[in-house]
Amino acid sequence: MSVVLVVEDEQAIAELIALNLRHAGYQVQVAHDAETAQRLVDEVLPDVVLLDWMLPGQSGLQAARRWRADSRTRTLPIIMLTARADEEDKIVGLDSGADDYLTKPFSTKELLARIRAVLRRKAPESLDTVIEVGGLRLDPAAHRVSFQSGSGAAAIELKLGPTEFRLLHFFVSHPERVHSRSQLLDRVWGDHVFIEERTVDVHVKRLRDALAQAHCTKMIQTVRGSGYRLSVQVENND
Ligand code: CA
Repeated sequence: MSVVLVVEDEQAIAELIALNLRHAGYQVQVAHDAETAQRLVDEVLPDVVLLDWMLPGQSGLQAARRWRADSRTRTLPIIMLTARADEEDKIVGLDSGADDYLTKPFSTKELLARIRAVLRRKAPESLDTVIEVGGLRLDPAAHRVSFQSGSGAAAIELKLGPTEFRLLHFFVSHPERVHSRSQLLDRVWGDHVFIEERTVDVHVKRLRDALAQAHCTKMIQTVRGSGYRLSVQVENND
């Protein structure tokens, strides 16, 4: 069950949100200020934070910035709640590290849709679910990767090192999107901030070498000047 932390100083609003979320099957924690929210986050990382912009004491913006600066909470999904509809404020909110933005008043339906969306975006590579993309099948629990070129073809088991496995896991969880080297370092290598971006290239090469066993090297594409992408729309890109 996903845990949602609601940080909102207006008690009636906080209670209403909590009630609706519990009804939708979420486990809910409520904090009425950023300091209490920090204590709760220190104890257990929630799956999503609904963070009110205007709070007594430390603002929601400051809390979001602090969480983004801390390696433990860097990828914590944050949805900012605000009474401001100003486009400029929205940009500031998203710049501070919020994943999404909801302007009050919002419907429960809209709130639930946004929560589901950030959970989908943030969670897949941390789960043990088997993922299949374009014939590639990755089983995180068994730590196995195989490739099947067509429905009648035999599946070929691929041998991958641990870093290549994590890298591929990230790619298959976010297919058809370009990831920069620094994004890959952030999401695959995590807190190892001293690793050079060149390391990504080394492991991408090893991953391609591993995929060559099944002739699916071209699924990992270099996007000039931007980074790498896993795509099932294989073009002759090299
Ligand atoms: Ca408020």
